[in-house]
Amino acid sequence: MSEFFKALRIDKTETGQAVEIVSFADHELMDGNVTVRVTHSTVNYKDGLAITGKSPVVRRFPMIPGIDFAGVVEASADPEFKPGDRVVLNGWGLGETHLGAYAQRARVKGDWLIPLPACFSPAQAMAIGTAGYTAMLSLIALERFGLEPSQGPAIVTGASGGVGSIAIAILAKTGWTVIASTGRLDESAYLKELGATDVIDRAQLSTPGRPLGKELYAAGIDSVGSHTLANVLAQTKGLGAVAACGLAQGMDLPTSVAPFILRGVALIGINSVTASKARRVDAWDRLARDLDPAKLEALTTTIGFDEIIPTAHAILDGTIRGRVVVEIG
Ligand code: NDP
Repeated sequence: MSEFFKALRIDKTETGQAVEIVSFADHELMDGNVTVRVTHSTVNYKDGLAITGKSPVVRRFPMIPGIDFAGVVEASADPEFKPGDRVVLNGWGLGETHLGAYAQRARVKGDWLIPLPACFSPAQAMAIGTAGYTAMLSLIALERFGLEPSQGPAIVTGASGGVGSIAIAILAKTGWTVIASTGRLDESAYLKELGATDVIDRAQLSTPGRPLGKELYAAGIDSVGSHTLANVLAQTKGLGAVAACGLAQGMDLPTSVAPFILRGVALIGINSVTASKARRVDAWDRLARDLDPAKLEALTTTIGFDEIIPTAHAILDGTIRGRVVVEIG
């Protein structure tokens, strides 16, 4: 193991923060009982927030951003892992409070890692990434609530994004009729290819609406928040549910209690960052079963280390379609 490796580092400056590719020393890594050679990462919305500094995602400086990785164990003091094991990590403060994924090496707690399911390559695991794993946590939450495709269609907001694209693919694969809400109607063919039956303009949902609307959807996966989530709740059928996992439009939720008390609609919060190991393993098992590899490939773009920073800006601009894999090695 050489002492130095390539990393993206965020430093605090007087005017904000600076981000650059540096040579990082092994002894600068934080404590952890497993050292991983990171081969692949990805650019999630939260990585965009961290790298641009638009939200206070980074809680410690200097920071190596990157909230998820796939790689190979180099050294381990955790009995569950040995050198050569293929592993994946999502969340747990990686890239926020703990030095993260945009580096050729990471040192983390073994408890945060899960074995990479045999059917996925490290690149495929990061094509799924935190966004795809969150989409699956959302679907599982809707199922656990008791919903099934016979009850009506499911709506996916932020459809062309990472969470949205994978949500469409897995909902369609599990039998749901999927309505995709997007600001990019020119991506309709892509969204239908993933499994959407209909595509609607997100403008129908993104402005203030009525407390209750027509009952259109039995279920929803919302990565947008704000008025969009409020309108989805207002259009959810009686006893339906919406899994809320994102804030691409805003963190606010200008709704009323009407959908909850007059229709028994449920709002289910999804937090992927600290989900238990059992839930993670379950979600990854379900992704192995319910995500068509051809669809995963169709929604994935691959970039090199040098392209992380511009891609972080692009994801906040809403111009990234589907998922982006970063080749770290
Ligand atoms: P992406 O940028 O890939 O997708 C977000 C999508 O939202 C965009 O592609 C766009 O879709 C839509 N969108 C963007 N801006 C707006 C806007 N102003 N109004 C309405 N729609 C908008 O991000 P991800 O899929 O990686 O993440 C989506 C959200 O989920 C983020 O807020 C992220 O932080 C959150 N998240 C939460 C997790 C959790 O644990 N709860 C885990 C992972 C992600 P289109 O062009 O089709 O309209």
